Amino acid sequence: MNPFSFEEVTIKKIYHPLFTEKNVEVDTLRLDKIHPVISGNKWFKLKYYLQDALAQSKKTIVTFGGAYSNHIIATACASKLSGLKSIGIIRGEKPAHLSYTLQEAIEYGMQLIFIGRDDYRNKILPQEVLNNLTEKEIYLINEGGYGEKGAAGITDMLAHYNTDTYTHICCAPGTGTTMAGLIKGALLNQTIIGCSVLKNNASLQDGVRNLLNAEENNRKFIFLHDYHFGGYAKYTPELIGFMNKLYHETEIPTDFVYTAKLFFAINDLVRKNYFDKGSKLLVIHSGGLQGNASLPGGTLIF
Ligand SMILES: *Cc1c(COP(=O)(O)O)cnc(C)c1O
Repeated sequence: MNPFSFEEVTIKKIYHPLFTEKNVEVDTLRLDKIHPVISGNKWFKLKYYLQDALAQSKKTIVTFGGAYSNHIIATACASKLSGLKSIGIIRGEKPAHLSYTLQEAIEYGMQLIFIGRDDYRNKILPQEVLNNLTEKEIYLINEGGYGEKGAAGITDMLAHYNTDTYTHICCAPGTGTTMAGLIKGALLNQTIIGCSVLKNNASLQDGVRNLLNAEENNRKFIFLHDYHFGGYAKYTPELIGFMNKLYHETEIPTDFVYTAKLFFAINDLVRKNYFDKGSKLLVIHSGGLQGNASLPGGTLIF
């Protein structure tokens, strides 16, 4: 298993003529540097769930995800490192060829069980799981690590870095757990921007709000809904072109599911003078680069 390199996770300034011209500073927190396969934010989201599972003497982590889920692969790896077994309940029929994500999850010792989309939607635990394990042995983690423990891990992570001077902290929410953790950890004068990577995801706002207390719900945070590029894990030639250009200009690799859309949005908003002069942005690079393995060879220059 590849080692984790927490010391490589640093805040880097992005030098770009557009940002200079608009007098907006843009920095990025390179959580992607933690590990080549495990998304940075996933690792932090899982921390308290795994601690809780161990404290309760649970044997097996059970969680849910799709065939390309960064959460599945992160859970497989983190469970193994914690000495716990893991089971991934995967949406849909078992495909003839497993995705890179699922192959890696198996490498980390995760047992995969495929279930139909209706059962998946209702989060029904397959009989196969219940035959072999008692409820007491199972520790369930929500799809995407959604929940308060997940958010708390992100708040801890943010506290590790010196972020007080930023006016905006920007992320690419899926479940919104990371965004909620950032809102909890941010200063009251900072605005958290969440660039939704799903189409018409009206439930995102509730997802985030439900993890916040009354005071936190009054803090400054906004959602962007115009940068999904067709929906979750959808992409266009424009997005791919942007990823290659960004890498060429700044050496920052992005993933097409989350971080490319976030960086595209920030770039676009800076161009449109959305941010006041003198604004200082921190863009959370949450990783997810393993997902690019599902793109046709030669699509990306990195
Ligand atoms: C899962 C994931 C996100 C979304 O995180 P949430 O906490 O579910 O909102 C963002 N970026 C990457 C790379 C991810 O893997």
